[in-house]
This record gives sequence, C-alpha cells and structure tokens, in this order.
Amino acid sequence: MLHYSCDLCQRPIDPAVCIRHVVKINVFPAVDSQNDEESLAGSETLGDDHLDDMHDLLERLEEQDLAAFLDDGTRSLRFDLCDACRQRFLRNPLGIQPNKSFTFSDN
Ligand SMILES: [Zn+2]
Repeated sequence: MLHYSCDLCQRPIDPAVCIRHVVKINVFPAVDSQNDEESLAGSETLGDDHLDDMHDLLERLEEQDLAAFLDDGTRSLRFDLCDACRQRFLRNPLGIQPNKSFTFSDN
C-alpha cells in the first residue's frame, strides 16, 4: 500500500483520516514574443494558424515530453500536503517571510 507523507511537515497523510492535497508548480520562462507580434501584424490569418498549430502540438505532448521539449529552465514541481499545510501554503504560496527585521528605531 502506498503511503503518503506531507512534504512540508513530514507527517504521514492517512487517506482515511484526512485529504491529501497535491500542489503542482510549473516554472517556465515567459516568452517575449515581440518579434512574433511584429511579423504577425502584417498578416492576421497567419496568427490564427500559428496558434492552432501550437495548440495541437501542446495537446499531443505528454507533460513529461513537454518538459523535455522546453528544456530551458522549465520545471514541474509536485508536492503532497496535509490539510493544515495546504491552508498555510495557500496563505503564503511563495513562502515570503514577514519582514520582522524592519524596526523603525532610528529616529
Ligand atoms: Zn503538513
């Protein structure tokens, strides 16, 4: 039997007791398509065809294949979270530390 544990607090997640939550994070470079937009400005029909082709391509690729296809810093992360950690994660998805070091003492 497959046992899951929370990736944040390391506690085992018993599916009989609580729900296992999956967090998927996709990191990928934003494509700056300035050049494409310039070339497409002259021919609007080309833009639609191009998008359709890309859509078909993306649909045919499995998730792993897509990651390999776009091997340019793209990362797909997956975490299992218990319910408590899910709530904590959603409150602060990027793990931003509250800046307690800010003290306005020098006045
Ligand atoms: Zn947890």
